[in-house]
Amino acid sequence: MSTPTTHDFQAEVKQVLDIVIHSLYTDREIFIRELVSNAADSLEKMRLTQLTENSVFGAELPLEISITTDEETGTLTIADHGIGLTRAELVENLGTIAHSGSKAFAAALKNAGKGGDASLIGQFGVGFYSAFMVAEEVQVYTHSWREDGEHLVWSSTGAGTYVIDESPDQKRGARIVIKLKEDAKEFAQPHRVKSILGKYSNFVSFPIQLNGERVNTVEAIWLKNKDEVTEEQYKDFYQFTAHAFDEPSYRLHFQADAPLVINALLFLPEQNMEMFGMGQMEPNVGLYCKKVLIDPHPKKLLPEWMRFVRGVIDSEDLPLNISRESMQDSALVRKLGEVVTKRLLKFLDKEAQDDAKKFQEFYAKFSRFFKEGVATDHANREAVAKLLRFESSLTDKGEVIGLGDYVKRMKEDQKAIYYQVAPSRSTIETGPYLEAFKSKGYEVLYLYETIDEYVATSLREFDGKQLQAVNSNEVDLGDISNEGESLGEAETTSLCGWLKESLAEGVEDVRSGKRLVNSPALAITPDGEMTPQMRQMMKAMKPDEVAAPKVILEINPRHEIVRQLSGLSQSDGDRAKLIAEQILDNALLSAGLLDDPQRIVSRTEKIMGMLLAK
Ligand code: ADP
Repeated sequence: MSTPTTHDFQAEVKQVLDIVIHSLYTDREIFIRELVSNAADSLEKMRLTQLTENSVFGAELPLEISITTDEETGTLTIADHGIGLTRAELVENLGTIAHSGSKAFAAALKNAGKGGDASLIGQFGVGFYSAFMVAEEVQVYTHSWREDGEHLVWSSTGAGTYVIDESPDQKRGARIVIKLKEDAKEFAQPHRVKSILGKYSNFVSFPIQLNGERVNTVEAIWLKNKDEVTEEQYKDFYQFTAHAFDEPSYRLHFQADAPLVINALLFLPEQNMEMFGMGQMEPNVGLYCKKVLIDPHPKKLLPEWMRFVRGVIDSEDLPLNISRESMQDSALVRKLGEVVTKRLLKFLDKEAQDDAKKFQEFYAKFSRFFKEGVATDHANREAVAKLLRFESSLTDKGEVIGLGDYVKRMKEDQKAIYYQVAPSRSTIETGPYLEAFKSKGYEVLYLYETIDEYVATSLREFDGKQLQAVNSNEVDLGDISNEGESLGEAETTSLCGWLKESLAEGVEDVRSGKRLVNSPALAITPDGEMTPQMRQMMKAMKPDEVAAPKVILEINPRHEIVRQLSGLSQSDGDRAKLIAEQILDNALLSAGLLDDPQRIVSRTEKIMGMLLAK
């Protein structure tokens, strides 16, 4: 006789169970969806296993799900002949959570408010534990598909521990017996369970029996015509297949005959799960051939940055017996992915134009993916770039535009697309760079995120126009007519020479520029130098290896301070140097290049002392 072994749940599981048992009261019925979905996943794995394994325990068993209700004892049983679990798998899969999901889940639940939102549970990959919302005790009777597996039962009340014991005569798969809590007895009523199953059972590609009676017809809604599918069905399908609780933001359902026969149904979610700290998502558009699932998470079908897209791509051109491994290198699959990607990008561009506000709301949550796309997806770079949105010098705060609109309203003599990378709108608008662009009437895009710089440099050009950072040495604004008194040419040249000598450590060059209107000077990144944002990133990683910046200082010969400085440099070199250093530091500060702000404090104190002594 075997002896039962008692195990502690991993701390994260305890935490999840605690929430599930004590704070989820609404939408409890979703536990059925989660368990049916797990059963279907397991059957799917079994189907694939059978293709490659000769020796399978219980090979004759049908791939189906049986659900039974027993009102008298108040139990609900959900059984499948899927892959089942070994002893080690019971511990691994039903006693621990491998990913960071539980923390993210707990945080999301807190945000969802009191009472909790049970429907969140599936998205966080902890669906099995949802049974404890309604269960006094859960038992999992199982035998793995492996011939040498054991006949086992796992049981728990959800209170910190579970027990694994032997239980003779199990068939292959998992039979989950839920002893319902007093207030959850409704889930032992056949009509209640039937109506819950009604919503999504048709999306399960295996037969489901309820008390011996078949309740689903396997239905591939992606193969239907659009006018045969209701909004409700689309939504139910999305929520079931994606374990989702939200409504999809966008849906693209299309059929194509050339170059490949394609039936695709794609959804873009409303919530970005990576934002909840869930770590990187898996690709989530399943690949099918004539309704048969080939791979639920195909890695090389759509570009990696599209991992937030959900749904189904079905192509009858694929060979049915294609294995997941050969699928990855198949030219046909690559072509299929390309066609669908292009179609989706075109669709999004149109949607974004038709309803800019809706797209903006969506983009606010998913911008990271599009930016990643521009940086990594060479084949679709320009099409993805069309979907980027930024604030600019011509928009109000919070309002954004795309590159397409930017190009449309470029001035006739404007050579490039200009942008400034800075943490906020006010940093840009109070800084010295914008002035010249404003006076020319050129729009400047405001890029607030550190990765934006990388995105802009990877993109390099859009619609044949170069992207240029406002602080780059490449910028050529031509003539700017500036009125008012200015230093003469000879004085300017000599002041530049003097400055270059006095500030030798911090500048590569000093020149006079036409760009400036209201500021005395600005710092420009020399060609081939790291941009300020790159430098900051490097500094964060290797603080000791990044040298002090050397910039090109562009001075404004019309500015009062610069004009005065010219004279002072002749008459009082020491004071002039102090002011020159301050001008440089101010310029570095605006450029995001000032490593040691403290030195400004001591210098301004000196300058104040001089002023007061006068
Ligand atoms: P998820 O399904 O998102 O991974 P769950 O908490 O629902 O998270 O399930 C945890 C794991 O337990 C699954 O990944 C699977 O390995 C295993 N499991 C759950 N139900 C079954 C089942 N019916 N048959 C076999 N394994 C199962």
